[in-house]
Amino acid sequence: MGVFLIRYGEIALKGKNRAHFEKALEARLRQALAPWGGRVRRGVGRFFAEAPDLLEVHRALSRVFGVVSYSPALKVPLEMAAIEEATLRLAQEEVARGERSFRVQARRAEKRFPLTSEALNRRLGALILERFPGLKVDLEAPGFTLFLEVRPEGAYLYTQKIPGPGGLPVGVTGRGLALLSGGIDSPVAAWMGMKRGLSVDMLHFDAPPWATARGKVEALAEVLAGWGAPFRLFIVPFSKVQLQIGRHVPERFHTLVLRRMMLRFANLLAEREGVLVLLTGESLGQVASQTLESLRVVNEVSALPVLRPLVGLDKEEIIALAKRVGSYEVSIRPEEDCCVVFAPRHPATRPRLAQVQKAEAPLEIPTLLQEALEGMEVLAYSNGGSGGL
Ligand code: ATP
Ligand code: MG
Repeated sequence: MGVFLIRYGEIALKGKNRAHFEKALEARLRQALAPWGGRVRRGVGRFFAEAPDLLEVHRALSRVFGVVSYSPALKVPLEMAAIEEATLRLAQEEVARGERSFRVQARRAEKRFPLTSEALNRRLGALILERFPGLKVDLEAPGFTLFLEVRPEGAYLYTQKIPGPGGLPVGVTGRGLALLSGGIDSPVAAWMGMKRGLSVDMLHFDAPPWATARGKVEALAEVLAGWGAPFRLFIVPFSKVQLQIGRHVPERFHTLVLRRMMLRFANLLAEREGVLVLLTGESLGQVASQTLESLRVVNEVSALPVLRPLVGLDKEEIIALAKRVGSYEVSIRPEEDCCVVFAPRHPATRPRLAQVQKAEAPLEIPTLLQEALEGMEVLAYSNGGSGGL
């Protein structure tokens, strides 16, 4: 078993929030490490995990939102001989990696230990220099830093601080519902919601037999599950809605009316589930349905706030994030989602609300929504999704 020191951000945390955050982070860490028999313990301002030092464990830790950084460490008894031996072992690894300079940074949290932090720095520094004559001390820009933490239960030594994903532990800010298509954008939007502490269920509208992105969407849910399951994926049959729109609504408003139907449904489901916020992968100006006028027309049917986390990002930035999330390779598979097949040749780009309301007037909206709800499937995802990083 290896030992990991896990750090989280404290700046934004005050009072009750902090306890809430720590409890949630502890639960998320336990969940992430459970498949490898990992154990988690809370320390002051950080967590300690015992888990095998495997690539999978690193991957799991680097996907727990709330983790700012972590360090695989050696834990040894509070005896100088053991501390020195561990020091040399870590220094040896760094030398093998080609490092040529170092510094020692000791912290004595256990004041009963006889040597002060300063004395530890000097003694371990001298030991390293003696054993590895090619190394130099460099306090400003060392090739590596040997960190030592002296705590009541033992001494921890490490040289690496590996960045975590940051953010807030999934669940601390509440629950969201993300509209997930098979595209590049919406999985990233859902991920950004998770990163800010939302526990996010996924909602997908499917339109068999004309087009179905179902395989992709299930694979995307699998990927997202690796970042903060459990959640549910709701799959809603929308063929009839599309058929009715195709029959009764002028073509240039097809996408807008379809989006309004999606958002109406999402509000219905969110209310039933007690969810307070929706998320979409919409941006600004990407396509005709994402002009300000279109967003306003679509948004009008939503009583709940709709978060659009991608609004400040360029496509290149979104793609880079999708790669980091692990969703990109799935999103670019050539399965077409309902909207693509259904897209009008000449969509309205500056729609007026009254026009769209009039255009959708022939639809029997409550009946269509009710039928869609009755046909809805629910799939559950738990920890251990795949993909990414
Ligand atoms: P994406 O890459 O997420 O599909 P996009 O840039 O292609 O986004 P649109 O296709 O216009 O944009 O869709 C805008 C948003 O509407 C999507 O990001 C998603 O949140 C939602 N959406 C679109 N189609 C569906 C669908 N079939 N099921 C659920 N949500 C959808
Ligand atoms: Mg799309």
